[in-house]
Amino acid sequence: MAGEFDFIDWIRRQQRTSEIVQVPAGDDLAVLKWNWPGRESDLLLVGVDQVLDGVHFDSAIHSPRAIGRKVMNRNLSDCAAMACVPVAALVSAALPRGQDIEHARELYLGIKEAADAFNCAIVGGETGSWKGQLVVTVTILGGADGIPPVKRGGAVAGEHIYVTGPLGGSLLLDRHMNFVPRIIEARRLASGNRIGGMIDLSDGLSRDLRQICTESRVGAIIQADLIPIHDDIMKARRDERAPLEHALHDGEDYELLFTTAEPVVGVECHRIGHTTDDPGIWLDRGGQLEPLEPKGWEHPL
Ligand SMILES: [Mg+2]
Repeated sequence: MAGEFDFIDWIRRQQRTSEIVQVPAGDDLAVLKWNWPGRESDLLLVGVDQVLDGVHFDSAIHSPRAIGRKVMNRNLSDCAAMACVPVAALVSAALPRGQDIEHARELYLGIKEAADAFNCAIVGGETGSWKGQLVVTVTILGGADGIPPVKRGGAVAGEHIYVTGPLGGSLLLDRHMNFVPRIIEARRLASGNRIGGMIDLSDGLSRDLRQICTESRVGAIIQADLIPIHDDIMKARRDERAPLEHALHDGEDYELLFTTAEPVVGVECHRIGHTTDDPGIWLDRGGQLEPLEPKGWEHPL
Protein backbone atom coordinates (compact mmCIF):
# COMPACT_ATOMS: atom_id res chain seq x y z
CA MET A 1 0.00 0.00 0.00
CA ALA A 2 1.29 3.45 -0.85
CA GLY A 3 2.57 5.55 2.06
CA GLU A 4 1.57 9.05 3.07
CA PHE A 5 4.50 10.65 1.26
CA ASP A 6 3.77 8.89 -2.04
CA PHE A 7 0.18 10.05 -1.73
CA ILE A 8 1.24 13.68 -1.19
CA ASP A 9 3.52 13.42 -4.22
CA TRP A 10 0.64 12.06 -6.29
CA ILE A 11 -1.60 14.96 -5.21
CA ARG A 12 1.13 17.44 -6.07
CA ARG A 13 1.42 16.01 -9.60
CA GLN A 14 -2.32 16.57 -10.22
CA GLN A 15 -2.04 20.32 -9.67
CA ARG A 16 -1.20 22.90 -12.30
CA THR A 17 1.51 25.40 -11.41
CA SER A 18 0.19 28.80 -10.43
CA GLU A 19 1.78 32.18 -9.90
CA ILE A 20 -0.17 32.52 -6.67
CA VAL A 21 1.00 29.20 -5.23
CA GLN A 22 4.64 29.76 -4.26
CA VAL A 23 5.02 26.49 -2.30
CA PRO A 24 2.55 23.70 -3.12
CA ALA A 25 1.43 20.70 -1.02
CA GLY A 26 4.28 18.71 0.47
CA ASP A 27 5.99 21.23 2.76
CA ASP A 28 4.94 22.01 6.35
CA LEU A 29 2.63 24.74 5.02
CA ALA A 30 1.69 25.93 1.55
CA VAL A 31 2.78 29.48 0.65
CA LEU A 32 0.51 31.77 -1.37
CA LYS A 33 1.13 35.22 -2.79
CA TRP A 34 -1.47 37.46 -1.28
CA ASN A 35 -1.54 40.74 -3.11
CA TRP A 36 -4.62 42.88 -2.84
CA PRO A 37 -4.75 46.18 -4.71
CA GLY A 38 -3.72 49.03 -2.44
CA ARG A 39 -2.44 46.74 0.32
CA GLU A 40 1.10 45.90 1.26
CA SER A 41 1.84 42.46 -0.09
CA ASP A 42 2.60 39.57 2.17
CA LEU A 43 2.76 35.83 1.83
CA LEU A 44 -0.08 33.78 3.26
CA LEU A 45 0.93 30.44 4.75
CA VAL A 46 -1.73 27.81 5.21
CA GLY A 47 -1.89 24.23 6.40
CA VAL A 48 -4.12 21.68 8.07
CA ASP A 49 -3.43 19.01 10.65
CA GLN A 50 -5.66 16.41 12.24
CA VAL A 51 -5.52 14.31 15.40
CA LEU A 52 -7.34 10.98 15.78
CA ASP A 53 -8.32 9.15 18.94
CA GLY A 54 -6.18 6.03 19.23
CA VAL A 55 -3.50 7.38 16.89
CA HIS A 56 -2.33 10.79 18.17
CA PHE A 57 -3.94 10.63 21.62
CA ASP A 58 -5.99 8.26 23.73
CA SER A 59 -9.19 9.79 25.06
CA ALA A 60 -9.28 7.15 27.83
CA ILE A 61 -6.06 8.69 29.23
CA HIS A 62 -5.77 12.24 27.89
CA SER A 63 -8.07 15.08 28.93
CA PRO A 64 -9.99 17.01 26.26
CA ARG A 65 -8.02 20.09 27.25
CA ALA A 66 -4.72 18.31 26.60
CA ILE A 67 -6.04 16.97 23.28
CA GLY A 68 -7.06 20.50 22.25
CA ARG A 69 -3.65 21.87 23.16
CA LYS A 70 -1.93 19.14 21.17
CA VAL A 71 -3.81 19.65 17.91
CA MET A 72 -3.25 23.42 18.05
CA ASN A 73 0.42 23.06 18.98
CA ARG A 74 1.02 20.65 16.09
CA ASN A 75 -0.25 23.32 13.70
CA LEU A 76 1.80 26.02 15.42
CA SER A 77 4.83 23.75 15.09
CA ASP A 78 4.27 23.69 11.31
CA CYS A 79 4.35 27.52 11.44
CA ALA A 80 7.69 27.23 13.27
CA ALA A 81 8.99 24.89 10.55
CA MET A 82 8.43 27.64 7.95
CA ALA A 83 9.46 30.46 10.35
CA CYS A 84 6.12 32.20 9.87
CA VAL A 85 3.84 33.99 12.34
CA PRO A 86 0.55 32.22 13.09
CA VAL A 87 -2.41 34.56 12.62
CA ALA A 88 -5.66 32.61 12.74
CA ALA A 89 -7.04 29.10 12.90
CA LEU A 90 -10.26 27.22 12.08
CA VAL A 91 -11.23 24.16 14.05
CA SER A 92 -13.36 21.24 13.00
CA ALA A 93 -14.31 18.55 15.54
CA ALA A 94 -16.17 15.27 15.06
CA LEU A 95 -17.36 14.48 18.59
CA PRO A 96 -18.42 11.01 19.75
CA ARG A 97 -22.23 10.95 19.98
CA GLY A 98 -23.57 11.39 23.50
CA GLN A 99 -20.56 13.29 24.83
CA ASP A 100 -21.60 16.30 26.90
CA ILE A 101 -21.05 19.93 25.95
CA GLU A 102 -18.58 20.32 28.84
CA HIS A 103 -16.25 17.97 26.94
CA ALA A 104 -16.45 20.11 23.81
CA ARG A 105 -15.85 23.26 25.87
CA GLU A 106 -12.73 21.75 27.45
CA LEU A 107 -11.46 20.76 24.01
CA TYR A 108 -11.99 24.32 22.77
CA LEU A 109 -10.30 25.79 25.87
CA GLY A 110 -7.24 23.61 25.23
CA ILE A 111 -7.10 24.80 21.62
CA LYS A 112 -7.51 28.42 22.73
CA GLU A 113 -4.86 28.14 25.46
CA ALA A 114 -2.26 26.98 22.91
CA ALA A 115 -3.38 29.56 20.32
CA ASP A 116 -3.39 32.45 22.81
CA ALA A 117 0.25 31.79 23.68
CA PHE A 118 1.11 32.93 20.13
CA ASN A 119 -1.68 35.49 19.61
CA CYS A 120 -3.40 33.24 17.12
CA ALA A 121 -7.15 33.89 16.82
CA ILE A 122 -9.72 31.12 16.46
CA VAL A 123 -11.94 32.49 13.69
CA GLY A 124 -14.32 29.69 12.87
CA GLY A 125 -14.96 26.02 12.60
CA GLU A 126 -17.48 23.26 12.61
CA THR A 127 -18.64 20.62 15.08
CA GLY A 128 -20.68 17.50 14.54
CA SER A 129 -21.32 14.31 16.46
CA TRP A 130 -21.13 10.79 15.08
CA LYS A 131 -20.82 7.18 16.13
CA GLY A 132 -17.04 7.19 15.72
CA GLN A 133 -14.25 8.40 18.00
CA LEU A 134 -13.04 11.97 18.49
CA VAL A 135 -11.36 13.61 15.47
CA VAL A 136 -10.10 17.20 15.64
CA THR A 137 -8.81 19.11 12.63
CA VAL A 138 -7.21 22.55 12.68
CA THR A 139 -6.52 24.74 9.66
CA ILE A 140 -3.83 27.31 10.34
CA LEU A 141 -3.17 30.61 8.58
CA GLY A 142 0.08 32.47 9.03
CA GLY A 143 1.99 35.39 7.57
CA ALA A 144 5.61 35.73 6.51
CA ASP A 145 5.81 39.13 8.23
CA GLY A 146 9.12 40.19 6.75
CA ILE A 147 10.90 36.83 6.93
CA PRO A 148 10.86 34.70 3.76
CA PRO A 149 9.36 31.24 4.55
CA VAL A 150 12.00 28.58 5.11
CA LYS A 151 11.33 25.51 3.00
CA ARG A 152 12.35 21.89 3.37
CA GLY A 153 14.01 22.06 -0.03
CA GLY A 154 16.51 24.87 0.62
CA ALA A 155 19.45 22.85 1.96
CA VAL A 156 22.71 22.63 -0.03
CA ALA A 157 25.65 20.24 0.31
CA GLY A 158 28.29 21.20 2.87
CA GLU A 159 25.96 22.78 5.42
CA HIS A 160 25.83 21.85 9.10
CA ILE A 161 22.71 20.08 10.37
CA TYR A 162 21.26 21.26 13.68
CA VAL A 163 18.40 20.44 16.07
CA THR A 164 16.96 22.89 18.60
CA GLY A 165 16.68 20.41 21.49
CA PRO A 166 17.09 16.87 22.80
CA LEU A 167 15.25 14.05 21.03
CA GLY A 168 13.48 10.78 21.78
CA GLY A 169 11.07 9.35 24.32
CA SER A 170 8.26 11.80 23.57
CA LEU A 171 5.62 9.10 24.02
CA LEU A 172 7.09 7.63 27.22
CA LEU A 173 6.11 10.46 29.60
CA ASP A 174 3.47 12.14 27.41
CA ARG A 175 5.73 14.97 26.25
CA HIS A 176 3.96 14.66 22.86
CA MET A 177 0.81 16.03 24.54
CA ASN A 178 2.57 18.96 26.12
CA PHE A 179 5.24 20.77 24.15
CA VAL A 180 6.01 24.34 23.17
CA PRO A 181 6.12 24.92 19.41
CA ARG A 182 9.45 26.54 18.49
CA ILE A 183 8.03 29.63 16.80
CA ILE A 184 10.15 32.16 18.68
CA GLU A 185 13.30 30.14 17.99
CA ALA A 186 12.35 29.75 14.31
CA ARG A 187 11.82 33.49 13.83
CA ARG A 188 15.14 34.23 15.52
CA LEU A 189 16.93 31.57 13.49
CA ALA A 190 15.55 32.77 10.18
CA SER A 191 16.13 36.46 10.88
CA GLY A 192 19.70 36.11 12.21
CA ASN A 193 21.05 33.21 10.13
CA ARG A 194 20.94 31.95 6.57
CA ILE A 195 18.90 28.81 7.03
CA GLY A 196 18.98 26.28 4.17
CA GLY A 197 16.20 23.73 4.80
CA MET A 198 14.03 23.38 7.89
CA ILE A 199 11.30 21.04 9.20
CA ASP A 200 9.69 20.39 12.59
CA LEU A 201 10.45 16.94 14.00
CA SER A 202 7.04 15.29 14.07
CA ASP A 203 7.75 11.95 12.39
CA GLY A 204 11.22 11.27 13.83
CA LEU A 205 14.74 12.45 12.96
CA SER A 206 15.41 9.59 10.50
CA ARG A 207 12.22 10.29 8.54
CA ASP A 208 12.12 14.10 8.74
CA LEU A 209 15.80 14.41 7.76
CA ARG A 210 14.94 12.37 4.67
CA GLN A 211 12.26 14.96 3.81
CA ILE A 212 14.83 17.76 3.85
CA CYS A 213 17.35 15.68 1.87
CA THR A 214 14.83 14.53 -0.75
CA GLU A 215 13.36 18.00 -1.27
CA SER A 216 16.83 19.60 -1.34
CA ARG A 217 18.48 16.82 -3.41
CA VAL A 218 21.33 16.39 -0.94
CA GLY A 219 22.53 13.61 1.34
CA ALA A 220 23.56 13.73 4.99
CA ILE A 221 25.93 12.25 7.54
CA ILE A 222 24.71 12.34 11.15
CA GLN A 223 27.19 11.84 14.02
CA ALA A 224 25.70 9.35 16.50
CA ASP A 225 27.66 10.84 19.41
CA LEU A 226 26.41 14.38 18.70
CA ILE A 227 22.68 13.61 18.86
CA PRO A 228 21.24 15.12 22.05
CA ILE A 229 19.19 12.48 23.87
CA HIS A 230 16.18 13.53 25.93
CA ASP A 231 16.16 12.76 29.70
CA ASP A 232 12.70 11.21 29.38
CA ILE A 233 14.29 8.11 27.83
CA MET A 234 16.39 7.45 30.93
CA LYS A 235 13.56 8.33 33.32
CA ALA A 236 11.00 6.08 31.68
CA ARG A 237 12.72 3.32 29.76
CA ARG A 238 10.24 0.54 29.39
CA ASP A 239 11.90 -1.35 26.60
CA GLU A 240 15.28 -2.63 25.48
CA ARG A 241 15.78 -0.17 22.66
CA ALA A 242 18.97 1.84 22.98
CA PRO A 243 18.47 5.55 23.80
CA LEU A 244 19.97 6.46 20.42
CA GLU A 245 17.29 4.40 18.63
CA HIS A 246 14.61 6.37 20.47
CA ALA A 247 16.26 9.68 19.53
CA LEU A 248 16.56 8.67 15.86
CA HIS A 249 13.11 7.23 15.29
CA ASP A 250 10.51 8.01 17.99
CA GLY A 251 9.09 11.22 16.53
CA GLU A 252 6.78 13.83 18.06
CA ASP A 253 9.77 15.78 19.42
CA TYR A 254 8.53 19.00 17.79
CA GLU A 255 12.04 20.44 17.83
CA LEU A 256 13.32 22.07 14.64
CA LEU A 257 15.75 20.30 12.31
CA PHE A 258 17.56 22.69 9.96
CA THR A 259 20.70 23.29 7.93
CA THR A 260 22.98 26.29 7.74
CA ALA A 261 26.52 26.93 6.54
CA GLU A 262 27.65 29.17 9.42
CA PRO A 263 27.67 28.67 13.21
CA VAL A 264 24.20 29.52 14.54
CA VAL A 265 23.64 32.81 16.33
CA GLY A 266 20.75 33.80 18.58
CA VAL A 267 19.36 30.36 19.41
CA GLU A 268 20.82 27.56 21.49
CA CYS A 269 20.97 24.40 19.39
CA HIS A 270 22.96 21.24 18.73
CA ARG A 271 25.03 20.45 15.64
CA ILE A 272 24.47 16.80 14.71
CA GLY A 273 26.02 16.38 11.25
CA HIS A 274 26.35 17.83 7.77
CA THR A 275 24.81 17.65 4.31
CA THR A 276 26.61 16.03 1.38
CA ASP A 277 26.56 15.99 -2.44
CA ASP A 278 26.14 12.22 -2.36
CA PRO A 279 22.41 11.51 -1.91
CA GLY A 280 22.85 8.80 0.80
CA ILE A 281 21.80 9.38 4.42
CA TRP A 282 24.28 7.88 6.86
CA LEU A 283 24.79 7.47 10.59
CA ASP A 284 28.42 7.77 11.69
CA ARG A 285 29.03 5.54 14.73
CA GLY A 286 32.60 6.23 15.79
CA GLY A 287 33.91 6.34 12.21
CA GLN A 288 31.73 3.49 10.88
CA LEU A 289 29.08 4.65 8.42
CA GLU A 290 25.78 2.79 8.33
CA PRO A 291 22.67 3.71 6.33
CA LEU A 292 20.17 5.67 8.42
CA GLU A 293 16.90 3.97 7.52
CA PRO A 294 13.68 5.92 8.06
CA LYS A 295 11.85 4.13 10.84
CA GLY A 296 9.79 6.99 12.23
CA TRP A 297 6.06 7.13 12.19
CA GLU A 298 4.25 7.10 8.85
CA HIS A 299 0.48 7.26 8.85
CA PRO A 300 -0.83 4.09 7.20
CA LEU A 301 -3.20 4.73 4.29
MG1 LIG B 1 5.51 19.57 10.14
